[in-house]
Amino acid sequence: MLRAFFIADFYPRCTIGVMNASHNIYIHVPFCISKCKYCAFFSRACASPDWDSYAEKIIHEIKHWRNILGRVSVPTIFFGGGTPSLLPTKIFAKIMDAIHENFELLPNAEITIEANPKTLDSVRLREFCDGGVNRISIGVQSFDDEKLKFLGRAHNADDARRLIDAAMATAKNVSADFIYGLPSDNTHDVIKTCNEINRIGLQHCSMYELTIEPDTPFGKMNLEMPTNDEMAEMYNAISKTLKLKRYEVSNYAAKGAECRHNQNVWDGEPYIGIGDGAAGRILINNEWYEELGGGKLFEKLSDSHRAIERVITGMRTRHGVMVDETIKKIIDIEFAKSHPDMLEFKSDNRICATDAGILGLDKIIERLVK
Ligand code: SF4
Repeated sequence: MLRAFFIADFYPRCTIGVMNASHNIYIHVPFCISKCKYCAFFSRACASPDWDSYAEKIIHEIKHWRNILGRVSVPTIFFGGGTPSLLPTKIFAKIMDAIHENFELLPNAEITIEANPKTLDSVRLREFCDGGVNRISIGVQSFDDEKLKFLGRAHNADDARRLIDAAMATAKNVSADFIYGLPSDNTHDVIKTCNEINRIGLQHCSMYELTIEPDTPFGKMNLEMPTNDEMAEMYNAISKTLKLKRYEVSNYAAKGAECRHNQNVWDGEPYIGIGDGAAGRILINNEWYEELGGGKLFEKLSDSHRAIERVITGMRTRHGVMVDETIKKIIDIEFAKSHPDMLEFKSDNRICATDAGILGLDKIIERLVK
């Protein structure tokens, strides 16, 4: 009951004459050509959905947020999934037109689209870039056909290499996602992947550890996974081998090639989540709200809840979190000071995890937050 929810009159609105803060935008595209065996994301296998009704819903949400926030500026847009590269480019253009009509898209805005190598050729890639996309994030996962098959990916390694080449010739920024820590993986495999990333000259990549989620085919397979020590060894080998610098737990970039959208979200900036499966953090008149795309939720967040979220996301990044008055109230400063091997105070009043701390980050955050 999307419409009924949206026309309800309980949304706070921008105080007249006061401009709301800029908001980043995340748009979820929940369709994939097939379902990967490890995937627990909100997505379903459907290569030819009813794109017109999908676009109608997305544009309806865009207009809704314009009514609530006013014509705020937008520094980044991220089309995530699912598989956004399945979008017909005409539908993509329609959504972009709606964003231009309702918000102030900044001239240097970063516009990312996630792409599956099986769904994008160089013609459509060019059309997306002509329509505004300036960052392509490619779901490569592996350069090994056997591993891709095991993961249930629809593409092979050559499809991935071809798309990387085409994207590097077309878009300003190109990133690729990889998964390591498969049952048979070892440090040698990880180093081989990193060497190929170096050779290609990618400016950004994300290296994700395979996690087994219960409601997936992998979750039912009783797989023999690498031990924690083996995983840590592979993680350290990635940092040592890649020429790119780690700027977040799983993300590596050349200087200036960091993903601005994700960096903004981790830094605690507001963002609108649009589409079923999206989530957002909205800032209206200095108050924070949690929302779920499709109008599934809109709820005020307390200052302490928002501060904890900022610690959880900020501590994942190399530059950590700013220790302002709200953060001071919710973290145990004495604990931080007594663990210099794990936590570090920066001269600009930020706190971050050291290389050793990153390996046990969840436990450290649990202990750091009072
Ligand atoms: S392409 Fe991505 S979202 Fe789609 S099924 Fe595979 S992992 Fe999940």
